[in-house]
Amino acid sequence: MAKKCEEFISGLADYIDGEIEPELCEEIEKHIGQCNNCRIMVDSLRQTVRLCREGKEEKLPPALEEKLTGMLKKRWKEKFGQA
Ligand SMILES: [Zn+2]
Repeated sequence: MAKKCEEFISGLADYIDGEIEPELCEEIEKHIGQCNNCRIMVDSLRQTVRLCREGKEEKLPPALEEKLTGMLKKRWKEKFGQA
Protein backbone atom coordinates (compact mmCIF):
# COMPACT_ATOMS: atom_id res chain seq x y z
CA MET A 1 0.00 0.00 0.00
CA ALA A 2 1.47 3.31 -1.06
CA LYS A 3 1.85 6.09 1.43
CA LYS A 4 -0.20 8.15 -0.97
CA CYS A 5 -3.35 6.49 0.38
CA GLU A 6 -2.81 8.00 3.81
CA GLU A 7 -2.41 11.49 2.43
CA PHE A 8 -5.44 10.83 0.35
CA ILE A 9 -7.57 9.90 3.34
CA SER A 10 -6.62 13.04 5.21
CA GLY A 11 -8.04 15.07 2.33
CA LEU A 12 -11.20 13.03 2.01
CA ALA A 13 -13.37 15.05 4.38
CA ASP A 14 -12.75 18.20 2.36
CA TYR A 15 -13.32 16.32 -0.83
CA ILE A 16 -16.69 15.02 0.29
CA ASP A 17 -17.70 18.41 1.59
CA GLY A 18 -16.87 20.03 -1.72
CA GLU A 19 -14.46 22.52 -0.16
CA ILE A 20 -11.22 21.48 -1.74
CA GLU A 21 -8.48 22.81 -3.94
CA PRO A 22 -9.15 21.89 -7.57
CA GLU A 23 -5.65 20.45 -7.85
CA LEU A 24 -6.16 18.18 -4.84
CA CYS A 25 -9.58 17.17 -6.10
CA GLU A 26 -8.04 16.17 -9.40
CA GLU A 27 -5.37 14.21 -7.57
CA ILE A 28 -8.01 12.39 -5.55
CA GLU A 29 -10.09 11.57 -8.62
CA LYS A 30 -6.99 10.19 -10.25
CA HIS A 31 -6.10 8.16 -7.20
CA ILE A 32 -9.60 6.72 -6.94
CA GLY A 33 -9.28 5.60 -10.53
CA GLN A 34 -6.15 3.66 -9.68
CA CYS A 35 -6.76 2.50 -6.13
CA ASN A 36 -9.71 0.25 -5.52
CA ASN A 37 -9.43 0.41 -1.73
CA CYS A 38 -9.66 4.17 -1.67
CA ARG A 39 -12.55 4.11 -4.09
CA ILE A 40 -14.46 1.86 -1.71
CA MET A 41 -13.58 4.22 1.14
CA VAL A 42 -14.87 7.20 -0.79
CA ASP A 43 -18.04 5.43 -1.81
CA SER A 44 -18.85 4.44 1.75
CA LEU A 45 -17.98 7.89 3.05
CA ARG A 46 -20.10 9.56 0.42
CA GLN A 47 -23.01 7.37 1.37
CA THR A 48 -22.51 8.17 5.04
CA VAL A 49 -22.38 11.88 4.37
CA ARG A 50 -25.43 11.74 2.17
CA LEU A 51 -27.38 9.92 4.85
CA CYS A 52 -26.23 12.43 7.45
CA ARG A 53 -27.25 15.34 5.29
CA GLU A 54 -30.72 14.10 4.52
CA GLY A 55 -33.12 15.85 6.81
CA LYS A 56 -30.30 17.88 8.30
CA GLU A 57 -28.42 21.00 7.47
CA GLU A 58 -26.51 21.23 4.21
CA LYS A 59 -23.09 21.66 5.67
CA LEU A 60 -21.33 18.91 7.49
CA PRO A 61 -20.43 20.02 11.01
CA PRO A 62 -16.66 20.18 11.62
CA ALA A 63 -17.02 17.74 14.50
CA LEU A 64 -18.60 15.18 12.20
CA GLU A 65 -15.93 15.73 9.62
CA GLU A 66 -13.29 15.05 12.21
CA LYS A 67 -15.15 11.99 13.35
CA LEU A 68 -15.40 10.62 9.83
CA THR A 69 -11.75 11.24 9.12
CA GLY A 70 -10.78 9.57 12.38
CA MET A 71 -13.02 6.63 11.63
CA LEU A 72 -11.49 6.20 8.20
CA LYS A 73 -7.96 6.32 9.54
CA LYS A 74 -8.81 3.77 12.20
CA ARG A 75 -10.40 1.45 9.68
CA TRP A 76 -7.47 1.87 7.39
CA LYS A 77 -5.07 0.79 10.10
CA GLU A 78 -7.22 -2.19 10.99
CA LYS A 79 -7.46 -3.25 7.39
CA PHE A 80 -3.95 -2.64 6.19
CA GLY A 81 -2.10 -2.73 9.47
CA GLN A 82 -0.03 0.38 8.99
CA ALA A 83 0.01 3.78 10.54
ZN1 LIG B 1 -5.38 4.46 -2.21
